[in-house]
Amino acid sequence: MSVAADFEALYGTAPDGVWAAPGRVNLIGEYTDFNEGFVLPLALPHTTVAAVSRREDGVLRLHSADIDGGIVQLDVDALEPLSGGGWAAYPAAVVWALREAGHRVTGADLHFRSTVPTGAGLSSSAALEVVTALALNDLFGLGLTGPELARTAQRAENDFVGVPCGVMDQMASACAADGHALHLDTRDLSYRQVPFDLAREGLRLLVVDTRVKHELGDGAYAERRAGCEAGARALGVSHLRDVDAATLPDSLARLDEVLGDERIRRYVRHVVSDNARVERVIALLDAGEIRAVGPVLTEGHASLRDDLRVSCPELDLVVEAANAAGALGARMTGGGFGGSAVVLVETDRAEAVTAAVEKAFAEAGHAAPGVFPAVPSRGARRL
Ligand code: ADP
Ligand code: MG
Repeated sequence: MSVAADFEALYGTAPDGVWAAPGRVNLIGEYTDFNEGFVLPLALPHTTVAAVSRREDGVLRLHSADIDGGIVQLDVDALEPLSGGGWAAYPAAVVWALREAGHRVTGADLHFRSTVPTGAGLSSSAALEVVTALALNDLFGLGLTGPELARTAQRAENDFVGVPCGVMDQMASACAADGHALHLDTRDLSYRQVPFDLAREGLRLLVVDTRVKHELGDGAYAERRAGCEAGARALGVSHLRDVDAATLPDSLARLDEVLGDERIRRYVRHVVSDNARVERVIALLDAGEIRAVGPVLTEGHASLRDDLRVSCPELDLVVEAANAAGALGARMTGGGFGGSAVVLVETDRAEAVTAAVEKAFAEAGHAAPGVFPAVPSRGARRL
């Protein structure tokens, strides 16, 4: 059944409309977004679809085909940050954030269905938020732009759900274009669509979902974030984005004098170097040298593994096995400690590389990974 038909069976009337927002993978630029740096994500063909009707009576009804359980009914005037609520907290958070920003949202009925794998580092949470934000934007005539919707969705996840994420995921889901990667400056949310037509180049970007999520990841993000902030303070800049990669050795020497903290030194080195890697990848893409992006990805992985220390054995194994089998390059993507990796590979090597990764996982006693091609797709839209 279509999502609209599901909606009608559930709520008794046809929806006012149907919207979709994609998940994303990040090609390069990891843990740079909360440092006001650059990122280069692309939207996946996997989307979260929402059938939605507007209401005037303050009632918010939420239902997901992907979750066991019935309709969650809330009162828009009584929405409370950090009040739990499981999955429904994400769309409720968006309603709350829109109203906090002064927009008149008087209730809605929503029904979701998604093909974005959840908890795999592919941002099913951002897809859920952005599709909600776009639907309400259209239904209530709010006139918000893609970046404004992304900011609202980020605020929703930060302040209402209580997850301290950066803005990359929501921007990718809201603003990405077909056949492109999104070069985003997270300082001011200015962006450029960078041509990334893999198929035409005879290339594939594989997403390898390790299907693990290590507990360690929960506190690690906040710890890395605090470490980066301490590093920026010690260097006298507002954010690590302002540390010039060309003079990084000088900055690290200064950091050693002021702080003498080898952990923060590693965090700074990762963020500043990864920010520079985004710029290098974009220069290569603009020059049509997509294959040369591969080694930069692998270099970025080493930095995440050794300096930021947010990788895990499964992610390292993907990178190692894929490169040994002839991939052009590979790296973990997203927050790490599990989730997914990306692998850049010649199309005619994709099967062999996939088989090599699967074999390595089987030999190491890990569950079989999920592998699929990341086809650069368009951002959120009304269907
Ligand atoms: P990720 O964003 O990497 O997929 P998160 O932990 O940030 O992982 O978000 C996953 C959570 O988002 C799920 O546990 C669920 O609460 C919510 N979610 C995402 N997609 C859906 C969906 N289609 N239906 C219901 N809840 C969803
Ligand atoms: Mg998420």
